[in-house]
Amino acid sequence: MKRLIALLTAGVMIALLAGCRKQEASAQIFAMDTVMGVTAYGGSAEKAVKAAEEEILRLEDMLSRTDPKSQVSRLNGSDGAAVAVDEEIVSLIREAGTYSQATGGAFDITIAPVVAAWGFTTDTYQVPEQADVDALLAAVGMEHVTLAESQVTLERGTEIDLGGIAKGYASDKLEAIFEEHQVEHGMVELGGNILLIGSKPDGTAWRLGVQDPAKPNEAAYAAIVQLEDAFAVTSGSYQRYFEQDGKTYHHIIDPATGRPADSGLTSVTVVTDRGSGSGTMCDALSTALFVMGEEQALEFWRGSDYAFELILVTEDGRVVVTKGLEEALMETKESGYTYEIVS
Ligand code: AMP
Ligand code: MG
Repeated sequence: MKRLIALLTAGVMIALLAGCRKQEASAQIFAMDTVMGVTAYGGSAEKAVKAAEEEILRLEDMLSRTDPKSQVSRLNGSDGAAVAVDEEIVSLIREAGTYSQATGGAFDITIAPVVAAWGFTTDTYQVPEQADVDALLAAVGMEHVTLAESQVTLERGTEIDLGGIAKGYASDKLEAIFEEHQVEHGMVELGGNILLIGSKPDGTAWRLGVQDPAKPNEAAYAAIVQLEDAFAVTSGSYQRYFEQDGKTYHHIIDPATGRPADSGLTSVTVVTDRGSGSGTMCDALSTALFVMGEEQALEFWRGSDYAFELILVTEDGRVVVTKGLEEALMETKESGYTYEIVS
């Protein structure tokens, strides 16, 4: 018996030592026009974070719209010719097309020339003439894109902008890297795109604050949700905008009008469990559902085959949360918002 206790104690000691030795690593990276944070605990955390940094830079090189050497830039400058590109980018464009189809065109990477006309691509903001926007809209739509195995053809005038999906895609790549390095707990924040691995190292859930869109420059939250092993992506009109003549114009464009979506929402957060959905899916849907507005977004949620939950923040001061997040939701009393659970 004594021996058993001694053995057990030794076992506990080893576990404790292993606990002490749990690797922890983190990094901050400026890429894709935003600040990114990567933190990992356990497994080969240091290697995981290093690989994550390299991966983010690799994806930026491939997907950037402003770097003239990126594959996206080569496609956009192709003037109607077929361009040989990596299979990886072909499959990302193909996936973007499926979200376009699923959302009735609310998500559409060919919105690129219109985004540029408003100055969001180069930070030279302006309100374009509607006639000019209408002319550009003629080349918007996935029907203007032809995909082969490792070749893409954009019709003349058509361009693509993967800004609405790239960070979500990057979070999927980082999930695979973290898995490969046996990271036990981790958090990745790619400018509004969150990936949570496991729980926090202390075993409690991560707390995700949904930015209060009315106070974009403060640590103010419209809601807090407790999550583990999840992706959570927020699209909001407060994330990038400019003002002209007392009016605010933001960066999420409604492909139906070519103008910033005016749908009554100030932010949309899409949440999915790891294993049920992906960061790419959440990213595409958050952009699309922002365009759709509350009513259509909830209708889409009810009827969709995609597995996800929503937190909508409305212009009129409500936080609308779908049933699956009811338990996870922590209302923030001081926020001034009212909370509604919908099913
Ligand atoms: P997100 O922050 O993920 O909602 O993506 C917004 C970015 O995606 C914008 O800065 C544009 O580059 C691009 N974008 C804007 N409107 C759309 C749209 N309707 N569909 C797809 N991408 C869009
Ligand atoms: Mg998006």
